[in-house]
Amino acid sequence: MNILTAPPALQQIKHVLIDIDGTLTDDAQDPQIDDQYFGGNVLLEMIRDLAVASGLSQQHVESELTRMIDELLFWDYPMLIEGVGLPLTESMEALKNWHPTNLEIYEDAVGLVHGLLEKGYILHVISNNPHSGCLLKLDAAGLLLHENRPVFFHIFNSTHQKGQKHQSEFWERAFCDGDLNPGECAVVGNHPYEDAKLPESLGIGAGFLVVRDQPAAEWCGSILQVQDLLQILPQLPSRVTL
Ligand SMILES: [Mg+2]
Repeated sequence: MNILTAPPALQQIKHVLIDIDGTLTDDAQDPQIDDQYFGGNVLLEMIRDLAVASGLSQQHVESELTRMIDELLFWDYPMLIEGVGLPLTESMEALKNWHPTNLEIYEDAVGLVHGLLEKGYILHVISNNPHSGCLLKLDAAGLLLHENRPVFFHIFNSTHQKGQKHQSEFWERAFCDGDLNPGECAVVGNHPYEDAKLPESLGIGAGFLVVRDQPAAEWCGSILQVQDLLQILPQLPSRVTL
């Protein structure tokens, strides 16, 4: 890679928006999202099982959860937990306990986050997970707090931005809700369309696409493909002024 081929917009970057699934963390073994689970999500199945263990019939719980998911559309785990009458704190603790053994944490991602903080960038999450799903994964990765301050200023998610990253409206809502100028934003993710091509079409300053089983490539427009997330750090100038 040659820094001279980098687009000039890099000097304007103030904010870095980072994807979670496949970028910061991944499934360690069995996938979290899979048809083998109730609702296609192991965490939904856990909520069902907790409700059944509390004395409700499986048929009743499944129909209530399905109804809430359909009606809410942009649901989050606490809404469903309270909706079936489970205690929130204990139930969220059960979901939290699933993560350490079932989530792979990418060490290059953790290094990237700390390196970007040291360089003075403002970090945000941009994820298809519901809000609490983001928090559970960030917590497992040790990326909720740094020196007693939140690592991420905004957590853009399916619950609050009402959608998914393959929709341009989702990105537009995130930029609007965060009062972000897309040209001042870099995006880090692992999906060629929703983390790179789509936000590039909306005017982001730069995109970094991690493809861990392929060597890094040259800049293509405002997108740089990297094999290791730490390859991003030399590309972005320090924003720290002494
Ligand atoms: Mg991803």
